[in-house]
Amino acid sequence: MSHVLHRTLSHTYPVAVAGEGIRIRDAAGRTYIDASGGAAVSCLGHGHSEVGEAMKRQIDALSYAHTSFFTTDVAEALADHLIAHAPAGLSHAYFVSGGSEAVEAALKMARQYFVEIGEPQRRLFVARRQSYHGNTLGALAVGGNEWRRAQFAPLLVEAHHVSPTYAYRDQREDETPEAYGARLADELEETLARLGSENVIGFLAETVGGATSGALTPPPGYFARVREICDRHGVLLILDEVMCGMGRTGTLHACEQEGISPDLMTIAKGMGGGYGPIGATLVSDRIVRAFREGSGLFQHGHTYLGHAVACAAALAVQTIVQRDGLLENVRAMGEGLREDLAARFGSHPHVGDIRGRGLFQAIELVADRATKEPFDPARKLHARIKREAMARGLMVYPMGGTIDGRRGDHVLLAPPYIVTRQDVTEIVDRLGEAVDAALA
Ligand code: PMP
Repeated sequence: MSHVLHRTLSHTYPVAVAGEGIRIRDAAGRTYIDASGGAAVSCLGHGHSEVGEAMKRQIDALSYAHTSFFTTDVAEALADHLIAHAPAGLSHAYFVSGGSEAVEAALKMARQYFVEIGEPQRRLFVARRQSYHGNTLGALAVGGNEWRRAQFAPLLVEAHHVSPTYAYRDQREDETPEAYGARLADELEETLARLGSENVIGFLAETVGGATSGALTPPPGYFARVREICDRHGVLLILDEVMCGMGRTGTLHACEQEGISPDLMTIAKGMGGGYGPIGATLVSDRIVRAFREGSGLFQHGHTYLGHAVACAAALAVQTIVQRDGLLENVRAMGEGLREDLAARFGSHPHVGDIRGRGLFQAIELVADRATKEPFDPARKLHARIKREAMARGLMVYPMGGTIDGRRGDHVLLAPPYIVTRQDVTEIVDRLGEAVDAALA
């Protein structure tokens, strides 16, 4: 019997023993194509020897020094690299161990900012339905996944939710994408007015939706309007790019494609590519200045902030992504993935939508394409697809369709940035077989 408390208690998991490139092998000798990068984590694939060597060098030199005593060369070099390539105005990196911690830090920084500048009445967050920001209590409070939140609701800080960018279901037939985006931004403004914008700390959004929504992309102009609304109301814009960032959508940051910069931005997953547990909150100079001129410290902290080996892993991963021009491959293979998904599922009777950007794409399954009626959640189609895919040596990231009772099951694909055109075809072939077997 396993003494590990696994996520699903009734399930027996294969034992992963080795990884090479886009494949993971289990103890029984079976191999799986990692078409989801785990949870959109793996960007260089598995077993990259240069990353391993950089981590070994760091362990030999120094593995850990507590941040209340020291900084390290490697944390400084990683921050320099990230800030040199960050959206305009972001000037500092706060290093944590993953996505939820990055979101917690962002929420607390945003709150402390207003305390420092003499607006302590600001205590509310606005975020979006069908979003995911992490499983710690602060991150869960802003997240819009009802299923994850329900039993913890009494423990959560106050957050209000507006509509996600969900063109497939919510864009009206007589509406252009631009008009749909403007309508969603107006909803944010109305919500700020209803709450009293002087009480609101920040608006938090995934630039491209991930774990709860399945690669929901923003309509054109939406984030430009959101940026303008936040500025006009003195509300901070916090972009969560834990899943969609660090190259996954074809540019280093997804918000580059929207032409905007946030006040705070969270990154993780692809930042360390799975080689080290690491994330960061990137902070605008305005916020850092308020801390410096105010209390002089950020009232937060964890033992493993800026862990030297995790920083060495992330620095190596980011240097290789840049050196090898992998974002070009993300864009090219993203197009290939879209082509193959369209060819395989474009007229599939139970695939209602194919969406996403770069190597971050999803299909949404529906019982009826004409009415967009989802499958009965009791059927757990997403779990069946995962099982059928694993049986065919394919890892995909499926999600159930129960949120708000109005979304179909979906399957997210997020393969490593090193995939080839042939890999993409193999992934979509196996997925096609798994979907059809799950529906049979
Ligand atoms: N934010 C987003 C957008 C995410 O997708 C996730 C993880 N799926 C998180 C935060 C939480 O990250 P972690 O699981 O590393 O705590």
